Amino acid sequence: MTSQYVTAIVPVRALHDGKTRLAGVLSLPRRAALVRSMLERVLAALRGAQRIQRIIVVTPDEHLPLPAGVARLLDQSVGLNPAIELAISEVSRRSLAREGQPGQRASDAVLIIPADAPQVSSYDIDTLIKQAENFDVAVVPDRHGRGTNGLWLRLPTAIPMQFGADSAEAHMAAARRLGVRVTGIEVAGLSHDVDEPADLGAEPMPEELARLLADEDELAPLLLRASSLAQEGFGQRVSYSRKVFIPLTHWCRDVCHYCTFAAPPRKGDTPFMTIEQVLEIARQGAEAGCDEALFTLGDKPELRYPAARRALADMGFASTLDYLAYCAQRVFMETGLLPHLNPGVMSTPEIARLREVSVSMGIMMESTAERLSERGGPHHRSPDKEPRRRLATLEAAGELAVPFTTGILIGIGETRLERIETLLAIRRSHLRHGDHHPELSRQAGDAYGVCP
Ligand code: SF4
Repeated sequence: MTSQYVTAIVPVRALHDGKTRLAGVLSLPRRAALVRSMLERVLAALRGAQRIQRIIVVTPDEHLPLPAGVARLLDQSVGLNPAIELAISEVSRRSLAREGQPGQRASDAVLIIPADAPQVSSYDIDTLIKQAENFDVAVVPDRHGRGTNGLWLRLPTAIPMQFGADSAEAHMAAARRLGVRVTGIEVAGLSHDVDEPADLGAEPMPEELARLLADEDELAPLLLRASSLAQEGFGQRVSYSRKVFIPLTHWCRDVCHYCTFAAPPRKGDTPFMTIEQVLEIARQGAEAGCDEALFTLGDKPELRYPAARRALADMGFASTLDYLAYCAQRVFMETGLLPHLNPGVMSTPEIARLREVSVSMGIMMESTAERLSERGGPHHRSPDKEPRRRLATLEAAGELAVPFTTGILIGIGETRLERIETLLAIRRSHLRHGDHHPELSRQAGDAYGVCP
């Protein structure tokens, strides 16, 4: 815990006055929703930071909703800088009043954080304060190195507020003129603020903006943006892998309501393809010019069906994944096809084991919507479709640096917002590990698309 008492100051305009430079691309209600959403994220980060003791929002809007524990300082001055200076003088005044009073603590410093930097986290805030606390002034530049997206000031301070164009250098220069200890600190979560239309398309798109797309009903601009992003990233190039599918088993312990792949056991069925059948498909694929053997299969049928357990035991395997590892290795050794494995939910040791016999693996994230697993939902009684289990598989693959495919499933009763939330969850995992290759499957009639 820090010895400093730090007050955060967040300046924000009235909801309906904010982000006027976005007027050409966002309607007034959307701009207001964006401002509010970004403010909520910033305040959540500050409230979660261990090194912040007090939070003040300075605003002319007396109706602006604020969470518990966040103070409002009403301000009718014109402009951002006078508003922040008012807040600093208020903090200083309160600090003076508290000095020497038993049980009262004066603020040692203020941290000014803009309300439009929604990617900031509590960790960012704590790290910033840790780096700044030995200085009188610390300036956090925006990603262009010009604006100020965070300003630490030890109290009392005589630094004039210079927020606006080229404010980062202006704050540094002001501190140097006063002869105080000053530093610049780069904070990833504070590098991106949202002012101009170009900021809306910046990578990565802020999560708040992505969520706003759930209500977007104008398809043409979305398609245009998607098309230009694809063009920027890949040009006209379309790549694919020549592959043969090997459905090792259609038995599955899950019962996804839309599934056209899994088949319940019938009298006389054998649960698994034999190794001879597997190799025969692989040989035919190799002769047809394939490079890849894509193993697709139901999720751990032995956990549900005694017949599957017996079949595995008869072949000398303890689990479907053990048998899968054996088959993948034989296919590679005997045909040269590169195994890609889609066996569903996997633990870290299982992924580590299977990476020895494959070039890549995957799991469809499908949806992070937990309600789809409730009674009446398509994932009810399908334990492998619990979002946290699938996310854990993605994370484990990322930690092991396994090339991994994933994607969302469309058309199973999810909302647009739930699709966006799922894509954001995949992106967060991707940003942490950088190795998931998104796919998108449409449920209707796509048997391979819905398989784990
Ligand atoms: S979608 Fe996949 S996990 Fe669900 S029942 Fe079908 S094979 Fe099993």
